[in-house]
Amino acid sequence: MPKDPYSWIENSLQTIHKAGWYRSVQTINKLPGSTVEIDGKTLINFAGNDYLGLAGHPRLIEAAINATKEYGTGTTGSRLITGHRDIHRQLELAIASLKKTQDAIVFSSGYLANIGTISALVGKRDLILSDGYNHSSLKAGATLSQATVFEYRHNDIQHLEILLNQHRENYRKCLIITDTVFSMDGDICQLPNLLNLAEKYSSMLLVDEAHGTGIFGEKGSGVVEHFGYTGHPLIQMGTLSKALGSLGGYVAGSSSLIDYLRNRAPSWIYTTGLSPADTAAALEAIHLIKEEPQRRKKLWENVEFLKYLLAEYQIKTLFQESPIFSVPVKDAETVFELGKHLKEAGILTGIIRPPTVPTSRIRITLIAPHSSEHLTELGRVLESVLNLDKT
Ligand SMILES: *Cc1c(COP(=O)(O)O)cnc(C)c1O
Repeated sequence: MPKDPYSWIENSLQTIHKAGWYRSVQTINKLPGSTVEIDGKTLINFAGNDYLGLAGHPRLIEAAINATKEYGTGTTGSRLITGHRDIHRQLELAIASLKKTQDAIVFSSGYLANIGTISALVGKRDLILSDGYNHSSLKAGATLSQATVFEYRHNDIQHLEILLNQHRENYRKCLIITDTVFSMDGDICQLPNLLNLAEKYSSMLLVDEAHGTGIFGEKGSGVVEHFGYTGHPLIQMGTLSKALGSLGGYVAGSSSLIDYLRNRAPSWIYTTGLSPADTAAALEAIHLIKEEPQRRKKLWENVEFLKYLLAEYQIKTLFQESPIFSVPVKDAETVFELGKHLKEAGILTGIIRPPTVPTSRIRITLIAPHSSEHLTELGRVLESVLNLDKT
């Protein structure tokens, strides 16, 4: 036995450093927006999830301040005890209205929504089929549920059907889980095929709209709306922390589903209710999404313009289906270096390394407030920095 039971931590950290997987925080000042300030230097921000530019919007800020003055900073307890306010219910009804579902339930984060919902829906005698590239919170929920979990190859419907065919009949309930917009590469799930298989094999389908809500669909309801499946029986979850510019998570679906979750989702029952400020900000964001579709339109214009620039510069990204663009890079060390060069040139991107993804990538996210100058600069700098790697 080792003398110091904590010494392994230092050793593990050294291993993380050696692999080039070490991560640390960077301090960002001022309001969120298309540019950020880091160490006194202004960078164009292509690393955030504030797709519609709402996280610093005066109306969200005002709503948060007013709610804080009216209800205080904390909700003082779980929703079922002392933590429920009328604005929680208003937010839930606004989400249900945006999604056109019977009801919705708000959790204190998207992560909590996924782990609580999945572990409430299935258990030991049940089966989960999970896309290989699913978000960490979906995977964590699957593990927590104690159901049998099989991962199907990323976006591979044939593989999913093989697994359903092989295993479905050996289990009581079955749940298929997937991101709608995959958070690292920005590609989109094959929702029509997933729904077909769910029906054929009597399985529930839970879709994670973290990067879909506010962005996809005519009304900004998400990828479900984009594919024309509004009103279809399925379980839609998402976050209030991306296009909605706040904090928190939600599940939208049938009244009985939501009522069941209020009674059975431990990460909703045993955690403190979402703060008044976050709740009111998210509610205001949903109003803005309905009132100002031009934000969503501008975001998609930016996507189209970047696609044009990438073609001009002959820069390859994995997909071009959403505001998330991912440039594959050969290894963790190189991506770290390229990220540094981009930063020196005034461009902030996501530097994504294992274990988040199997191979390294530069991840670029576009937001509505980016100007064409910002995007032109991105294209120019990206080309010159990627060429450094080739020489
Ligand atoms: C960000 C994200 C979450 C977690 O949401 P939070 O509200 O930040 O906890 C869940 N799923 C996906 C796909 C995400 O990208």
